[in-house]
Amino acid sequence: MKRRMDRALALLLCAALLLGLSGCILLPDNAEPGVRAFERSLFLMDTQMDLRVYGPEDGSSSAALDELAALLTELDARLSVTNPDSALSALNRSGASSDRELLLLVSEARRLHARSGGALEISLYPASLLWGFTAGSYRVPAQEELEALRPRIGTEKLSLSDTELTLAEGMQLDLGALAKGYAADRCRERMEELKLSGILNLGGNIQTVGDKPDGSDWVIGIRDPDDAGAYLLTLNLSGSCAVVTSGDYQRYFEEDGVRYCHILDPQTLRPAQSGLRSVTVVAERGLTADGLATALFVLGREKALELWRSAGDFEAVFLSDDGSVTVTPGLKDRVAGHAFEVAEP
Ligand code: AMP
Ligand code: MG
Repeated sequence: MKRRMDRALALLLCAALLLGLSGCILLPDNAEPGVRAFERSLFLMDTQMDLRVYGPEDGSSSAALDELAALLTELDARLSVTNPDSALSALNRSGASSDRELLLLVSEARRLHARSGGALEISLYPASLLWGFTAGSYRVPAQEELEALRPRIGTEKLSLSDTELTLAEGMQLDLGALAKGYAADRCRERMEELKLSGILNLGGNIQTVGDKPDGSDWVIGIRDPDDAGAYLLTLNLSGSCAVVTSGDYQRYFEEDGVRYCHILDPQTLRPAQSGLRSVTVVAERGLTADGLATALFVLGREKALELWRSAGDFEAVFLSDDGSVTVTPGLKDRVAGHAFEVAEP
């Protein structure tokens, strides 16, 4: 009987996730009059997405959620590396594409590749497959197997014009390191056009849009890597910003006491081991925050801080293997809940 109940509940939950959960929530008295919170949950891009918009109760807010859900569904269908019908899969099969969105994302990825000294590398898909990260069939490949993939890996082997992207022989791209950030940017742009504020959680990629109706800060938790239900610290932010975390706890397997995480170091083609458990990047653009969070995780704290010193478009929180936390100065008055060191400017 209990098993049947569990099954019924699981089916109901699956149906709700597929259809998208919706809800309208009352806000505190000091919020703008007539404004409510409207929520929807979806399962896309291999992850749970929770959307919340603040707006009037005249149907326009629910319609906006419908639009955002449709936009995210379309982006998932186009950019997914596992869906054989996506534009990305078509590129990986044929070696060429003129899909404008793919061209845009690849050109942004190429810029972040250059900025990060090669740490962001979107052509690691053949290596991710060997490690079994895509299918969940994990194993530790021999270094020779990995090295044999070298001719197929390297952003410099891409050829990109205004109208066409061409891959080198055997190359396969994976945009998993920045697709959710890009999707968050697209949602933010649409919400701004519709004059709606809100907060989107695209599988841990957080995007705030505008200000909260009651004027308080957005409070965003950074997860404790060792406790899925707990936050290590919180960030208090205002206005529109992207907050993206890359960490070794998001997808990994363990063998002989070693943890192998899903972020690969392009230099070794092995899971990055740079002394970090997680990096959180706060930036104006979701794509920048997402791409850089992955790259900074590969680089490790010192090199990441060098990159931060030469840039002006992001702030970061580093959680090191020894449990210590380092924040860049722009966030020092915005962090609460854990002791931290402020990085040298
Ligand atoms: P994220 O969760 O944003 O840090 O992105 C990690 C995902 O990007 C992985 O699941 C892989 O699909 C892919 N990936 C792994 N290592 C890299 C890398 N060094 N550069 C770019 N993409 C990567
Ligand atoms: Mg990323």
